[in-house]
Amino acid sequence: MSETKKKKSVKWGEEPKLSVLDALYLPAIVSGLTTAMRHAVSGKPMTRQYPEVEPEIPPNYRGVHRLNRDEEGRVKCVACYMCQTACPANCIEIIAAPAPKDDPHWKDRDKYPATFTIDELRCIYCGMCEEACPVDAIELTSVYDLTGMTREEMIFDKEKLLSVFDQTVDSGNDPVRTNRGILGPASEASQKAKDAPPPPGRGRRG
Ligand code: SF4
Ligand code: SF4
Repeated sequence: MSETKKKKSVKWGEEPKLSVLDALYLPAIVSGLTTAMRHAVSGKPMTRQYPEVEPEIPPNYRGVHRLNRDEEGRVKCVACYMCQTACPANCIEIIAAPAPKDDPHWKDRDKYPATFTIDELRCIYCGMCEEACPVDAIELTSVYDLTGMTREEMIFDKEKLLSVFDQTVDSGNDPVRTNRGILGPASEASQKAKDAPPPPGRGRRG
């Protein structure tokens, strides 16, 4: 493209002309104060009265993770590293161990997670781990009130993640996105999930 043509294709924006009042921000200040005063005298509460009034959590909310248990109460995770690989925030760390071969209860898998940690402060709650898991072992719950006094406390280990499962398994709210490894109705991919056949040989879902 020639220089003249290039120059012609560029459209320059006009800077808006401000009046003296606009330049002093007076109309904007008056408008802001009017809105604030209107709300102040209306008598209606403008904020959520949390924690007295619990917020309504939408069904597709992604909160604290949990590690699901299977029918025998074992961690369902088979230490395949799919979630760790999919995690864009790099906040999952797993150390796999061979499943105890002498124990007949562990004949169904080669590995289990000896350690499994999630840094809940680094997590961006995108749900990629949940979607990546082939055995529906990791899920994000509707638990939103996540607090801690130290950063270390916010690194959830396997026991803590299993305890979230124990606390939420009977809540009736969790999870709504996953169903035996298929994304549920609250997921963006709900229709696709509906059409897909159920995967065979899955254990108890949380
Ligand atoms: S929700 Fe996203 S960022 Fe958080 S652990 Fe899962 S994959 Fe990583
Ligand atoms: S939680 Fe799921 S995806 Fe992550 S390591 Fe365990 S089985 Fe694999």
